[in-house]
Amino acid sequence: MRTENIALAPLAPGASLSLTVQRFGPEGARPRIYIQASLHADEIPGMIAAHHLRERLTKLEAEGRIKGEIILVPSANPIGLAQRVMGDHIGRFHLADGVNFNRGYPHLVPKVAERIEGELANDGEANVRLIREALRAELEAWQPSNAAEVMKKALLGLAQEADVVLDMHCDSEAVVHLYTHTRSAEEFAPLSALIGSRAYLIADVSGDEPFDEACSRPWAELADRFPDHPIPFGCHATTLEFRGERDVYHETGKADAAAMIDYMVLRGAIAGEAPQVPEARCQATPWPPPSRSRLRPTASWCSKPTWEQR
Ligand SMILES: [Zn+2]
Repeated sequence: MRTENIALAPLAPGASLSLTVQRFGPEGARPRIYIQASLHADEIPGMIAAHHLRERLTKLEAEGRIKGEIILVPSANPIGLAQRVMGDHIGRFHLADGVNFNRGYPHLVPKVAERIEGELANDGEANVRLIREALRAELEAWQPSNAAEVMKKALLGLAQEADVVLDMHCDSEAVVHLYTHTRSAEEFAPLSALIGSRAYLIADVSGDEPFDEACSRPWAELADRFPDHPIPFGCHATTLEFRGERDVYHETGKADAAAMIDYMVLRGAIAGEAPQVPEARCQATPWPPPSRSRLRPTASWCSKPTWEQR
């Protein structure tokens, strides 16, 4: 495991922050899998899963079984981790301005489209490389306006060139569920079954630019803009909701880590015998449902609004 620390903007003179990144497997190898925990810093189950993932990945690396590159950010939001008010932990919104830490990522598609216009080839892999370079250049050009945006830029920079992004969250009270882009439904069907999800929610755009869509949407939208050129879906990203905020146990964290390891074996990032995928408990379902009039949002929502029947 190689550990690096990325310096973030200080919250005040002398109050410096950094992001800890743990890398496994050969540098630059594919598939590259990016995994982060607790972008909403008060959602602890992901950090427990990340702890167990690190242990498993360290052993697998010692056995020479990591074939792709796996990037783990076990605690993605040091700003939110430090926000405590009158005994309560506020990890979902930046206290400085009330902005959600999982919203407001830059939508780079228009500028990337300008940059690649006339440069696309008839070779899908070459186009993926071209688009990744353009995404990198446009993200580099983005000027963050505060410390939270500096952190968002660093996280997106680590994730957006990965083949797969797993963003671990939880809800207030919930069973296991996940969100992804419509065109990633097939990609994550085995992961959904492996983690035992009870709802599998798919959408093209859910609004306000959450982290997973900042990674995945460019591929769908660029493929639609340039239909005469092959553009494979270069980054499948999902938001994993590991139950409710009080469901913090080593037992479940260990099982969640094991499910992600199994998925990475299926994906070829880890060498090993293909695991048995259990029967899915649910099928991919578009959300929000077409008729919103009969529905209301739940009192609390996580990475995106969830909906329930009146
Ligand atoms: Zn969340």
